[in-house]
Amino acid sequence: MTKKGKIGVTTDNIFPIIKKFLYSDHEIFLRELVSNAVDATQKLKTISSVGDFKGDLGDISVRVSIDEEAGTLTISDKGIGMTAEEIDKYINEIALSSANDFLDKYKDNSNAIIGHFGLGFYSAFMVAKRVEIKTLSYKDGAEAVKWTCDGSPEYTIEKIEKETRGTDIVLHIDDENKEFLQKDKITTLLNKYCKFLPVPIVFGKKEEWKDGKSVETDEDNVINNTTPAWMRRPNELKEEDYLNFYRELYPMSEEPLFWIHLNVDYPFNLTGILYFPRIKSNIDLQRNKIQLYSNQVFVTDSVEGIVPEFLTLLHGVIDSPDIPLNVSRSYLQSDHNVKKISNHISKKVADRLDEIYKKDRNEFEEKWDSLKLFIEYGMLTDERFYDRAEKFTLVKNIDGKHFTLDEYRTLIEENQTDKDGNITYLYASNKDDQFTFIDGAKEKGYDVLLMDGQLDTHWVGLLEQKLEKSRFIRVDSDTAENIIVKEEAAEIKLTDKQKENIDEVVKSQLPKIDKTEFMVDYKALGETGRPIQVIQNEFSRRMKEMAEMQPGMAFYGEMPDTYQVALNIDHPLIAKMISETESKKKEELKQYAVENKTLHQLIDLALLSNGMLKGEALNEFIKRNYEGLA
Ligand code: ADP
Repeated sequence: MTKKGKIGVTTDNIFPIIKKFLYSDHEIFLRELVSNAVDATQKLKTISSVGDFKGDLGDISVRVSIDEEAGTLTISDKGIGMTAEEIDKYINEIALSSANDFLDKYKDNSNAIIGHFGLGFYSAFMVAKRVEIKTLSYKDGAEAVKWTCDGSPEYTIEKIEKETRGTDIVLHIDDENKEFLQKDKITTLLNKYCKFLPVPIVFGKKEEWKDGKSVETDEDNVINNTTPAWMRRPNELKEEDYLNFYRELYPMSEEPLFWIHLNVDYPFNLTGILYFPRIKSNIDLQRNKIQLYSNQVFVTDSVEGIVPEFLTLLHGVIDSPDIPLNVSRSYLQSDHNVKKISNHISKKVADRLDEIYKKDRNEFEEKWDSLKLFIEYGMLTDERFYDRAEKFTLVKNIDGKHFTLDEYRTLIEENQTDKDGNITYLYASNKDDQFTFIDGAKEKGYDVLLMDGQLDTHWVGLLEQKLEKSRFIRVDSDTAENIIVKEEAAEIKLTDKQKENIDEVVKSQLPKIDKTEFMVDYKALGETGRPIQVIQNEFSRRMKEMAEMQPGMAFYGEMPDTYQVALNIDHPLIAKMISETESKKKEELKQYAVENKTLHQLIDLALLSNGMLKGEALNEFIKRNYEGLA
């Protein structure tokens, strides 16, 4: 008996269309067919567990095999199988109303088309010129049948001899897709999509090294781990299990800092484990390490839109049958469920961080350098995360001590409040380059924070907005005496003529540096205050830093850096220069400036403490000082 029929699609020949539009993701056919095989196996296990199947389950592995000579790839299971009627119902009657419209709409998104219309099985035609289903249902007295289809809407169905329960899907791979007959290719794909499926997947035999070459053993090569850590209960798992699972996911990576086991069943189902990677440099920062699964089937490793942006830097696995995987990304981002999932994950992450902070503050501080980036990123991009993290986020001072925001405020409140009642947070972005300024601030009894992270410019801006009556100032933005203005500045008692002349003298001896401008300014810092200091205003420096990170603000980046050259008029050396120059004529000033060794020395020392004395100027300075010793 051979029956002929027509598959119920409205378009005459759907398969060429499938092939044409789904070219980019051909490989997912394997995922679809293996997960169908797994589903059929799981169904049988369920039926058996409730007593509706009395037979012996036997070996229930799903087997994938290649016959290169015959040009076939076969996926075999020992699941429920199908009767001829079931094939009719589940395979033949695919309802594709207005298939053309649909294909047109989704032509860029093959996942959408496949999932949306239950085309899972038909994805086989992306790589095969002919597909056979040989199947025997588990039902008593069932007859084995073979369904064959060559990619046209016509199929045949006939009785066959088949001893074993379950289904073999045989793909006669077409000429353009010969790669799917290669062992390495299939191994790669099975590892990608099927690594954590709940039923053993066997592909060939295990190999071992013998006499310097790899030989096949008798043992089945099972490619998957059927009970991955995220599917197990947290209380069953030890630290070692989490670390082992991490190694299984990322064999080359260093151990993670810690992890979060997600386990939600209301209002949606979601399980997973997220790991905080150890970060030592920018190179360690990689997005898209989180893998998304749906019932243990790998779906994608780009999780933007599903987890909050800052968490895309984490590693690990998320598994949810409730995330609509088969729709476009833009839809995903507006999906209500997905939003909830994203918020939930963000909350879980904050809770876990809070827990570690409370349980073991020392450990938290030790890991802070690696954690800081996630937490700052989260607080910068997710308002709710900011609110949750505010209590445990830390700042570190120049001496390596950690404080919460509240603790730090308490520490500096008394000594670092300016005349307008603003609490001034001093920070350094580089311990060595800004050493002189840090030292100056410390001498005044101020505390200095270290803000040397990638996000710290933005972070400082955010804290300034969030923390009441606060100002953040980098230590080298002003002289130590003026960086926190506690009282009205002393009046500068200089005549216009005095100013004009000393201005001219100092300016003429400042170095010419590309895109850099100097402005002479006067301060009364007492006799022991530094005679000359070169400083850059906090605001203009920050604008430039932001500009470098944001392409739209490039014009700021092009603007010259303006530095203030602060002369301490109380200092004896400066006072002397002022009195020596005040009555000089213009022509005389020039010569005075060129010949004044003290001035050169003071300027160079100021530039040196700011890291601005470089190259030839630095060389000159060193030479001059050696000569001075002779
Ligand atoms: P979906 O899996 O999304 O339902 P498919 O096109 O992949 O869509 O499969 C259609 C149906 O065919 C399945 O729901 C199942 O009933 C049946 N089927 C597919 N593969 C198998 C198999 N290996 N064993 C038993 N039934 C199968």
